[in-house]
Amino acid sequence: MSFDYDLFVIGGGSGGVRAARVTAATGAKVALAEEYRMGGTCVIRGCVPKKLMVFASEFPDAIADARAYGWDVTAGGFDWSNFRTKMHAELDRLEGIYRRLLDGSGVTAYDARATLVDPHTVALSTGETITAKHILIATGGRPAVPDMPNADLGITSNEVFLLDQMPKKILIVGGGYIACEFAGILNGLGVEVTQYYRGAQILRGFDDEARGLIADQMRAKGVDLHCGTNIEAMEQRGGGIWVRSTTGAEHLFDQVMFATGRSPNVDGLGLEQAGVTIGRRGEIVVDDYSQTNVPSIFAIGDVTDRVQLTPVAIREAMAFVETVFKGNPTKVDHELIPSAVFTQPEFGTVGLTEEQARDKEPIEVYSTSFRPMQTLFAGREDRVMMKLIVSQATRKVLGCHIVAPQAGEMIQMVGIAVKMGATKEDFDRVCAVHPTMAEELVTMKTPVRTA
Ligand code: NDP
Repeated sequence: MSFDYDLFVIGGGSGGVRAARVTAATGAKVALAEEYRMGGTCVIRGCVPKKLMVFASEFPDAIADARAYGWDVTAGGFDWSNFRTKMHAELDRLEGIYRRLLDGSGVTAYDARATLVDPHTVALSTGETITAKHILIATGGRPAVPDMPNADLGITSNEVFLLDQMPKKILIVGGGYIACEFAGILNGLGVEVTQYYRGAQILRGFDDEARGLIADQMRAKGVDLHCGTNIEAMEQRGGGIWVRSTTGAEHLFDQVMFATGRSPNVDGLGLEQAGVTIGRRGEIVVDDYSQTNVPSIFAIGDVTDRVQLTPVAIREAMAFVETVFKGNPTKVDHELIPSAVFTQPEFGTVGLTEEQARDKEPIEVYSTSFRPMQTLFAGREDRVMMKLIVSQATRKVLGCHIVAPQAGEMIQMVGIAVKMGATKEDFDRVCAVHPTMAEELVTMKTPVRTA
């Protein structure tokens, strides 16, 4: 049977674009459909604009520090509209690069919504019907908002980059990556930030000591963080949004932002027609090779709800191409993925938390927290933390957790050592780079506790 294409990719985000390009480079005939903008969540409404906003939000501290270091500078106001225009110009530039990459690698791009008709056919919103030997679903995810009356009054991370003006007072609901990152960003940009998190401590699933330090520092920087608190009711009142919390407090905010998780983008995709199995959380169920129960249909990235991170989607794309188009079946390796949360202070992490590790085997914990030279000199109270979790039996470093400026940059490097199976003694054999914060990672001699 002959098909229009060897591969049809649905979704032009990080995973889909990578899979399309690399498959086309094997000589296969490839098409990709994207209904919105090329680049997906990461480029258009996620990692990239978020990081630009993190940079923008750090200037008030930098200016205060500059004064402490003897510079005669004063901070003016922050011009959101000027910054937003430049930020979107940058996103346009990046989207252009994505389009050119697809074009240059010979992929046919359709600016259209694609839905599955059967295991080898997609229908486009333009009216065309296309057949393909393989179909790859890389449609990502979208913000999930709690099911409560008037929830539509709130915004999500999709809208925050498009605001006409910065709110004066915002409530952020949630305690995960997005909630905590935006609490820091908006606080830095001068917005009065209240954050409600329903659990006992923010950043559930991460190392407890790191979570505690980040929460303390966020509060010290001005975020009005309430744990054990959720939003109970909200309605439009006057020019603002009235909110009642589960603790009975009532407040008026200019804006409410829900950062309450993300759901796989599967609605109306035609998965039922094609016979593709969906899991309990709405995710497309795949095996280790990203293959669905329908042999011709694969799925990668956030729509599979494995690990919702851009570099993971890209690696899943590469493994898919190896498996399907290079005759080299390749499983995706989801072990020991380093990642960073761009809270203020920043958080870098790889491997097991202290809590996870001690449930598995006897461990030693090496941990230190201190005021780093740069901000100490400027009179700031900021603290950093460097922590290693070590197996007593194998001496391997099972986890590393860093709360510090540039922790994301540091954990990328530590990730290599941990992935290679480095032991505590391997760390100790490395000479310190002085004076740095990260030198503590190779100079911690005595465990603070064993467990
Ligand atoms: P997360 O899953 O990280 O956090 C969701 C938060 O919302 C949790 O605190 C959760 O509470 C809370 N929540 C869920 N449902 C409700 C509800 N009905 N009412 C109140 N609170 C609720 O999701 P995010 O949206 O923050 O981010 C999605 C994913 O995107 C992340 O998991 C991450 O993989 C990725 N991401 C990565 C970034 C990075 O690498 N720096 C940055 C941003 C996103 P509870 O803990 O109790 O479940």
